[in-house]
Amino acid sequence: MAVIDTQRLALDKINDLKSDLEALPVLGLASVAVGKNTAIDIYRASQEKTAGKIDVSGEKIKYVPVDLDAGISFEDFAKKIDELNNDNSITGIIINKPFPFGHESGVFSLINKDKDVEGVNTDNLGKLFDDNFILTEKLSSEASYVLLPPTVRSVLDILSECVKLDDIKGKRVTLVGFTSIIGKPLALLLANKLATVSITHIGTSEAKDLKNYIEGADIVISAAGVPDLIKGDWVKQGAVVIDVGISKEGDKLVGDVEFQKAKAKAAFITPVPGGVGKLTPLNLYYNLIIAAKKQQNK
Ligand code: NAD
Repeated sequence: MAVIDTQRLALDKINDLKSDLEALPVLGLASVAVGKNTAIDIYRASQEKTAGKIDVSGEKIKYVPVDLDAGISFEDFAKKIDELNNDNSITGIIINKPFPFGHESGVFSLINKDKDVEGVNTDNLGKLFDDNFILTEKLSSEASYVLLPPTVRSVLDILSECVKLDDIKGKRVTLVGFTSIIGKPLALLLANKLATVSITHIGTSEAKDLKNYIEGADIVISAAGVPDLIKGDWVKQGAVVIDVGISKEGDKLVGDVEFQKAKAKAAFITPVPGGVGKLTPLNLYYNLIIAAKKQQNK
């Protein structure tokens, strides 16, 4: 058993990002919020704090909060996003959730695809249909530079520490949770590499079938946000377990997996807190750098 050391991965990533930043002009990250919301405040504080870790001098990354009135019309909101799309000082755009407009993918697709640092625009998500997508390109290479959702990139960073991604062919992967920022993109990426991917979600749990899919899995990636959903004794001996879920139990943050029991059986496992979550904010800035390179190459 090995608990994966995402602290080391995070430090390596910070160093990579720092050196890439040196060669780039000042980058602007616009973080849009509609109305006031505590979850958005917390997420924005983490966005800003992470910028400070990469850009210690505070001179290379300009963090730009954009606060819009809760009652803004969709037309005015779309105009504001378009202004940011056309503003050369803005390299990347985040539209924080929740927002008061229904059609989520329509809202995210207002963002210029080359400024979409959360990888949520349908143009960027659509690229995942390409079988030749490269899972682990380095920032320094001129490979495909696809803007993946930061959490997906964190899972791939961790997975590639445990298995060679090119050897994932034929491995049984169970994904728990099927949203556009985690499960859906991972399903395509890993199936493109010929892993045998099972997609499970609330429907699977309600049918009392989740255990069957966990027991057979060589790799479990869980992003449900339900404490102790994955029982430790369901985990296959020698499996890789990546726990993306984060929930609060009292004052404590917990994942989806019964960590202590699962740890006894897994070959590799990530803890919560201190696992996937250490990398995800950094991968937002990884995307900001990709966005800058895409814009430079135009
Ligand atoms: P969401 O609430 O939008 O979706 C949850 C998904 O889990 C859905 O597909 C749902 O069907 C499934 N699900 C819910 N209950 C289930 C159950 N009992 N059994 C099986 N499946 C179930 O959440 P999201 O935005 O996709 O985030 C998922 C989790 O990942 C949350 O806990 C979130 O906090 C966490 N998260 C972590 C990171 C990180 O960096 N570690 C980043 C983003 C999100």
